[in-house]
Amino acid sequence: MGDSENRIGMTILGATGSIGRSALDVLSRYPHQYKVVALTANNNVKRMTEICRTHQPKLAVMVNEVAAERLATSLADTDVQVLSGAESLEYVSSREDVDYVVAAIVGAAGLLSALAAAKTGKRVLLANKEALVMSGDIFMRTVREGGAELLPIDSEHNAIFQSLPTNFRDGLSRVGVKRILLTASGGAFRTTPLELLDSVTPDQATAHPNWDMGRKISVDSATMMNKGLEIIEAHWLFGVPIHDIQVVIHPESVIHSMVAYSDGSVLAQLGNPDMRTPIAHSLAWPERCEAGVEPLNILDIAQLNFEAPDMQKFPCLGLAYESLQEGGTSSTILNASNEVAVDAFLNNRLKFTQISELIEQVLQTVEKRPADSLEIILEADRQARVTAEVLLASRAT
Ligand code: NDP
Repeated sequence: MGDSENRIGMTILGATGSIGRSALDVLSRYPHQYKVVALTANNNVKRMTEICRTHQPKLAVMVNEVAAERLATSLADTDVQVLSGAESLEYVSSREDVDYVVAAIVGAAGLLSALAAAKTGKRVLLANKEALVMSGDIFMRTVREGGAELLPIDSEHNAIFQSLPTNFRDGLSRVGVKRILLTASGGAFRTTPLELLDSVTPDQATAHPNWDMGRKISVDSATMMNKGLEIIEAHWLFGVPIHDIQVVIHPESVIHSMVAYSDGSVLAQLGNPDMRTPIAHSLAWPERCEAGVEPLNILDIAQLNFEAPDMQKFPCLGLAYESLQEGGTSSTILNASNEVAVDAFLNNRLKFTQISELIEQVLQTVEKRPADSLEIILEADRQARVTAEVLLASRAT
């Protein structure tokens, strides 16, 4: 394990992002316990330069080659070795001197590196929900066969993990679990009338009421596709049947999710909306550590609200339920078409309400297959992206 001082070796995939920032903040509180072996990003040379100077990893990966050259120049006076290319992500996730991997790349781009960490038996702190959505069965099998520890840092799944008994893998019904209550803030447009959603802008969609997150997940939150992806994520992580997952809108984002038991008990995890809590939990598990998070003052909150989701206003939620129900590569296609649609919306090529329309069209067009191998999954991902682009282009003409 780790280096000669027995520190835990860490790779942070997606280190320049919102989760990466929170993870580095927690790690910086424990310099004697954790050693940053590798940091990765795609393009952001400025931020990568800063964090490499602060955290002094052995390795820094920029997937983009031009960005890697620029990073190497700006770190020429340091010992940091700069690598480029997507295959380097897998290399820094599976090295022997790495014990824990924070998987926080956004989207399908994070799949292979998260799988590499699972395959080589690391503790995987998983934020990249898209990896599980794309390849749930294969991902979970890889975790088991690789002897990895999979700890969710998506706040809802971390809350569920904390509210489940430690032996939940014996079977949820055997340990008395009846239902999972997956909470959702409702996103930026919870109270916006349906007829106004046609004209909302990317800036409005990314202004999340409670959480400070990357742009893609913020749009997912506004369409509620994020909750849809999380239903699929919960299904694979905890082996919970789709009909036992109930989405509950909870605008304050204080209860991060709940587990209902056969004796009528409902266990919940509460906290301020700050990703450092689930990150610290997954780092220290089964112990606890200080995360730098403002303590929750229950008296300040005073009131917690709950409501049912509006399935008509947020059709992405229904599409996610259906794709999980359908199985095979359906969730892979859902995820890929969502990534293309969100990117098109952020670049003003698609209206907000057309995001779900495009996903539905792609789901109707691309042939579904049993998700038996990684090759089949990657091919479904590719086909869905190509189809989405063709459909997008046909809308523009
Ligand atoms: P950000 O957009 O803030 O960060 C994304 C990170 O991924 C950046 O480091 C980015 O590098 C890197 N990246 C982007 N594209 C690629 C690529 N093609 N290859 C390699 N690296 C790439 O996202 P978030 O931190 O918000 O989210 C990360 C993941 O965590 C997502 O899956 C999200 O759903 C999940 N998550 C996030 C939460 C949050 O609070 N933010 C909460 C729960 C889950 P660069 O900066 O160079 O572009």
